[in-house]
Amino acid sequence: MKIIRIRRHPWGGEFTAINLCGLVFARRELTPQEMNHERIHTAQQRELLFLPFFVWYVLEWLVLCAKHRDSLKAYYRIRFEEEAYRHQNDLTYLQHRRHYRYS
Ligand SMILES: [Zn+2]
Repeated sequence: MKIIRIRRHPWGGEFTAINLCGLVFARRELTPQEMNHERIHTAQQRELLFLPFFVWYVLEWLVLCAKHRDSLKAYYRIRFEEEAYRHQNDLTYLQHRRHYRYS
């Protein structure tokens, strides 16, 4: 995983980091937990062969936006984010993570 420091995301938004195929664009230095969060996303992307991950991610977010009428709430409910947030504090998670377990 490679980290690239940027001042702001070209598309705006307040997110600390965005992970595109293991290339992480971060607005500041990441904590070990945030690094683990991004590594979990890299594992998710790899096992879905990257492009399907992003298609699934965006479609699920759109469906959840329609359901909750709140884009941030929808973001936290995306299954990939739920897994990453739920396990980001377990720095050994990727050593025992089972494939395709997005929860
Ligand atoms: Zn995330």
